[in-house]
Amino acid sequence: MKKLLIANRGEIALRIMRTAHEMGIKTVAIFSEIDRNAPHVRFADEAVCIGPNPSNQSYLNGARIIEVARELNVDAIHPGYGFLSENAVFARAVESAGILFVGPSPFSIEVMGSKLAAKAAVKEYDIPMVPGLDRAITDVEAAKNLARKIGFPILIKASAGGGGKGMRIVEKEAEFEEQMQRAISEATSAFGDGSVFLEKYIASPRHIEIQVLADQHGNAVHLFERECSVQRRHQKVLEEAPSSILTPEVRKKMGQDAIKVARACNYRGAGTVEFLVDDKLNYYFLEMNTRLQVEHPVTEMITGVDLVEQQILIALGQPLSLRQDSLSIKGHAVELRVYAEDPQNNFLPSIGTLTRYQRPRGANIRVDDGYDEGMSIPIYYDPMIAKLITWGGNRDAAIQLMLEAIGQYEIEGVATTLPFGRFVLEHEAFTSGQFDTHFVQKHFKPEKLEETNPVGAEIAAQLAVKLYSDYQRVLKVPNVDQSNWGKDNR
Ligand code: ADP
Ligand code: ADP
Ligand code: MG
Repeated sequence: MKKLLIANRGEIALRIMRTAHEMGIKTVAIFSEIDRNAPHVRFADEAVCIGPNPSNQSYLNGARIIEVARELNVDAIHPGYGFLSENAVFARAVESAGILFVGPSPFSIEVMGSKLAAKAAVKEYDIPMVPGLDRAITDVEAAKNLARKIGFPILIKASAGGGGKGMRIVEKEAEFEEQMQRAISEATSAFGDGSVFLEKYIASPRHIEIQVLADQHGNAVHLFERECSVQRRHQKVLEEAPSSILTPEVRKKMGQDAIKVARACNYRGAGTVEFLVDDKLNYYFLEMNTRLQVEHPVTEMITGVDLVEQQILIALGQPLSLRQDSLSIKGHAVELRVYAEDPQNNFLPSIGTLTRYQRPRGANIRVDDGYDEGMSIPIYYDPMIAKLITWGGNRDAAIQLMLEAIGQYEIEGVATTLPFGRFVLEHEAFTSGQFDTHFVQKHFKPEKLEETNPVGAEIAAQLAVKLYSDYQRVLKVPNVDQSNWGKDNR
């Protein structure tokens, strides 16, 4: 592989290019008009404007991307996550153009892209599944009867759903019909596929997923788990590895089952098998994501494996050099997704210019980002600014270092989820490890952000008073309000 095109933007485009660069592979960036000066464009060896800002005219324009790849003699395309990464039609078109797709086969993408097809594929592998219906249902009465049998609460799910969208919880029978109609119409408009099915709603689950790697020669390994239970609206906000609740036995069994799921769809490359885990450590297969995951860095930090390098080697047809018995967990890693969103205002996107942007630095602190000071956050794409990752010899050390890194991170001009991250990391339910997917809903209120750092706020207040009285003859009131994140940042 001499030249790799990265069909993505932001932090993940940069992260992939870094590994390509280390492997001596030339990189091609694509960009929309607004991203012209973005770091991923500057880092690449070559860069091509792919179209106007809306994703469907740029980062989702597969035909144009393949055209560019051909013109520049690109050998391979890496799709990153989001955008075209789980688009089987794109993967097939890439292959037909004689270009390597750094990812699984179109067949695997297709099977796992449909939650129903995925369940059907793993059925004969004896993997525990959430009780429910494994086929699409349109008849409301039949569905209601089934729901009664499974027992309320019930989750109505879109087969083609993703990104936490396309799910409806039904608490009682009386609400069933209305919720089902809504689920179908939402699924139709959001995913172009109105197929829905039923799952038992697990009351207080953890979301724990297993990273797998499979080559083209039948070898597969798992790289342990990531705990992703801290979620907002079914979307992950903070992840860690390993999970503090798994026993070595359950970890091993989940790992083996994840490998079976990969085999069920003839998988190659890096993939993630997601499970729900209940308080008795029973686990249930949820879905498989056929791509690099947003939270992959925590796995890299505890295993020392570069997952992008592995993806590229596998795409080149090389046999896995990793062996299950030589893989082990070293220490603990935590990742916080830093979004340009205002946690004090219902996490509304806080679009603006990064008037100040200084990353935290230090041993065992990793920042995967796609912005520099002075840049604006475009409204067209996901408002994630960065992923802040820390590693420690144990969980407490990783958490402490994350708190320090949050303290060091200077972002002005937009509100961010940094103070929200601090709230989570300092919360007793999180530090004790006793939490589930309802953590945020249960414990977080915007008012709590001002309470989370009482010492800091107190010092800032005292300092403000002192500065004011010391210098009031020469200075105006100093603007010492770092504790007051997000309020006056726009
Ligand atoms: P991860 O575990 O990698 O965070 P997510 O499910 O959150 O996985 O998805 C990662 C990215 O892909 C996000 O940007 C998400 O919005 C996007 N995504 C995933 N599936 C879909 C889908 N079916 N429709 C739209 N966006 C999706
Ligand atoms: P997506 O494709 O949107 O990622 P998932 O099936 O992976 O959809 O579910 C996303 C999240 O929704 C899970 O991490 C979990 O928090 C919640 N969830 C999904 N299925 C169930 C269920 N049967 N019971 C309880 N929570 C669920
Ligand atoms: Mg999922």
